[in-house]
Amino acid sequence: MAARALDDLIALLAKLPGLGPRSARRAALHLIKQRETLLRRLAVTLTEAADQVRKCSRCGNLDAADPCWICAAPERDDRQICVVEEVDDLWALERSGVFRGRYHVLGGTLSAIDGYGPQDLGIDRLLARVAADRVSEVILATSATVDGQTTAHYIADRLAPSGVVVTRLAHGLPVGGELNYLDDGTLGAALEARRPVPSTAAERA
Ligand SMILES: [Zn+2]
Repeated sequence: MAARALDDLIALLAKLPGLGPRSARRAALHLIKQRETLLRRLAVTLTEAADQVRKCSRCGNLDAADPCWICAAPERDDRQICVVEEVDDLWALERSGVFRGRYHVLGGTLSAIDGYGPQDLGIDRLLARVAADRVSEVILATSATVDGQTTAHYIADRLAPSGVVVTRLAHGLPVGGELNYLDDGTLGAALEARRPVPSTAAERA
């Protein structure tokens, strides 16, 4: 039984991003050696995270509260919504301290390969917020990857009928670069120097 518990631990750790079977075995042995100081505390923390961390029904951020702390903050600017791919992109923007509006977290990008479609990105939820709230600008802060760009174009087209101003980060980023790898200064500069996106596909062609 003991051996199976260890095998299960290794098998689960190996599912984590960046951990293959070998590093999963090392991590499992390390956890067993640090049974009280690390393994038991991790078990408690995992349970708490599973019970408490929720996706914000409004923006897709992660928090114990719904709406999340950003959606609930009265001092933030309702007129700007920044669209990001993942919650760690939101974290990167918050670390940079340059954005004081609200967010929409896509949770991914449009991808034919992974079968990820518009319905998975909450685009209708974004359109509803733009229609209902006092939103004057939507900032597309998707990554400089092919999927990130495709997603940004798609969202810009869907937003075009609303008349809201749509801007993109000035990507001084490496091609294929992802937002959360940028240092705070670069990210802040990319946000400050954001550019309007033409309102229709025809204008862009
Ligand atoms: Zn939220």
